[in-house]
Amino acid sequence: MTGVMIVTGASRGIGAAVAELAARQGYAVCMTATSSISEAEAGAEAIRQNNGRAIAVRADVGKEADIMSMFETVERELGPVTVLVNNAGITGRGCRVEDIDLDTLSSSFGINVLGSYLCAREAVRRMSTAKGGQGGAIVNVSSRLSELGGSGEYVHYAACKGAINSFTVGLAREVATEGIRVNAVSPGVIDTSIHVPGRLDRLTPMIPVQRPGTAMEVAETVMWLASDAASYITGAVVPVSGGR
Ligand code: NAP
Repeated sequence: MTGVMIVTGASRGIGAAVAELAARQGYAVCMTATSSISEAEAGAEAIRQNNGRAIAVRADVGKEADIMSMFETVERELGPVTVLVNNAGITGRGCRVEDIDLDTLSSSFGINVLGSYLCAREAVRRMSTAKGGQGGAIVNVSSRLSELGGSGEYVHYAACKGAINSFTVGLAREVATEGIRVNAVSPGVIDTSIHVPGRLDRLTPMIPVQRPGTAMEVAETVMWLASDAASYITGAVVPVSGGR
């Protein structure tokens, strides 16, 4: 299935790689970002230069009104959404649980969990065959920390991604007969700017394959889960982690 894909957080890293690959495969792509919207604009422009269809939309997934207007813009400019990739995410400030503050917790859960949840709600409202839609696919971006726990630095982030795993399974079963598949990728250590300086080097010896992954390696799995090649897969959380 190709069609119209929304990729949240597509200005850089994994989201930018997904958008690039999706455009190459024939999707019309909506690339969202917040403060780095000019990078998303540049990504969309590069796709258009290659005869693809892409728009960039400023939308903070931590704000319901932004999500609602982003979906309206996509429908108006590109057509009915067929794939949602819930990629936008933040780690929040790294610290032990005893040092966490409410702002870090609220923004982490607000962007990583509530943002994905609300985007999926809007996608289901439009895709569900029970509501007159044409079906579609949702791919959530989890993290291996959902199972490893993130002790000492990112327990709040790991807990958010644990919620994403449960959400993936539950929503997948809820809409299984409505033409919508819901899956997640669970990246290990991927070489993007989400990491604080030195973190990649510190973690690399703990990765079985002894190297971080690339954004494109995650994007390939996202695209496969979104495609008809994965037509019998729903409710899966697929590690992309070099064995971690
Ligand atoms: P990244 O390079 O920091 O990119 C994050 C993207 O999300 C940016 O486009 C950013 O744009 C956007 N974003 C952040 N907050 C947003 C908000 N409130 N609303 C909309 N967009 C927002 O990160 P990445 O490594 O590619 O991570 C992408 C996803 O993979 C995240 O969900 C992350 O948790 C997950 N992940 C990454 C790794 C890894 O090792 N890199 C491992 C496991 C899971 P703005 O700055 O403009 O907001």
